[in-house]
Amino acid sequence: MDDLLRDIDAVLLMGPGPSCVPPQVYEALARPTIGHMDPAFIGIMDRIKVMLQELMRTTNPVTLPMSGTGSAGMETCFANLVEPGDRVLILVNGVFGQRMADVAARLGGQVETLEFDWGTPVDPGAVEQHLASGDRRALVAVVHAETSTGVRNPVEHLAPLVRAHGALYLVDAVTSLGGAPVDVDAWAVDALYSGTQKCLSVPPGLAPVTLSARAVDKLRGRSSKVSSWYLDLNMITQYWEGASRVYHHTAPVNMLYGLYAGLQLILDEGLDKVHARHTAAHARLVAGLEQLGLEMLVEPDFRLPMLNAVRVPANVDEAAVRRRLLQHHRIEIGAGLGPLAGQIWRIGLMGHTARAENVDRFLTALQDSLP
Ligand SMILES: *Cc1c(COP(=O)(O)O)cnc(C)c1O
Repeated sequence: MDDLLRDIDAVLLMGPGPSCVPPQVYEALARPTIGHMDPAFIGIMDRIKVMLQELMRTTNPVTLPMSGTGSAGMETCFANLVEPGDRVLILVNGVFGQRMADVAARLGGQVETLEFDWGTPVDPGAVEQHLASGDRRALVAVVHAETSTGVRNPVEHLAPLVRAHGALYLVDAVTSLGGAPVDVDAWAVDALYSGTQKCLSVPPGLAPVTLSARAVDKLRGRSSKVSSWYLDLNMITQYWEGASRVYHHTAPVNMLYGLYAGLQLILDEGLDKVHARHTAAHARLVAGLEQLGLEMLVEPDFRLPMLNAVRVPANVDEAAVRRRLLQHHRIEIGAGLGPLAGQIWRIGLMGHTARAENVDRFLTALQDSLP
């Protein structure tokens, strides 16, 4: 029998996700599978919840990993918090803002978008002005780290505007969580989701989510059922909380082992140190890219440390460079999406990947791969 798995060689993952997985997480994934109601497993679930609260800087009791990738986290937040007919405002400056608008509209939300140029951040002044026009929105959503462009949106400055308007505030922290400060309670975020495969350095498959008390009130007070059975937090919280542990769906047991190990590594290193490691790797990368004569897409103040968008020089075949990086150097980087397709490369420094030695290996390989 052929063994396709045997042919898989490690790749230095420097794209927009997944990121490199540390050995401790692989070891955790390989622990024996036990039942999802086993007291030993419940102990791991409880610990994951506490560690997620610490990472997100929140005391929200509803803080748990959903089964599914980051997009399942997105769909969970919208499905639980949007009722048909609710007015929803999405701030869009990249692919993931667009995806939010698509998801919210499929749930029957009355969706409007406020658009900003790709590669530039959401402007709080424009948001304030826009909120002052029209009826009250039930929910306002924004992406913290827009992975399609490398832009950091000013999530903390938007929060008071959304709160003053009386809307729930929903934030996508798929790429930021674990790589940059995310302060759910201090920023007064009502719902936030992330994913394991970016800065948490755990393979794709889980989506940490948190809901504030206000968001839980909205959920409990819905006049219609949550349209998705699988993502209904009314039921899922009964498995994740309390003494009774009501079965909903079989928890992805080994993936949760992996998340447990990944969160432990981050908290053992210390959140501040982890964030500083991302910033240092980013600075080293940008300096090296500029030395090669390359230009960043985003202004310095709004750059993400964990996702670096660099302009493809004129007359360079961007796909050929990525191909050579992968085939000759075993390094993966990402291409541009939407209007930025062919215009940029996206270089990820996420989680375990964000280290000086990886930056240096990449810069050497890139120099070799450029024509
Ligand atoms: C990757 C990503 C998602 C989607 O996550 P998947 O794991 O691909 O489902 C959502 N939002 C942002 C900002 C992302 O970077």
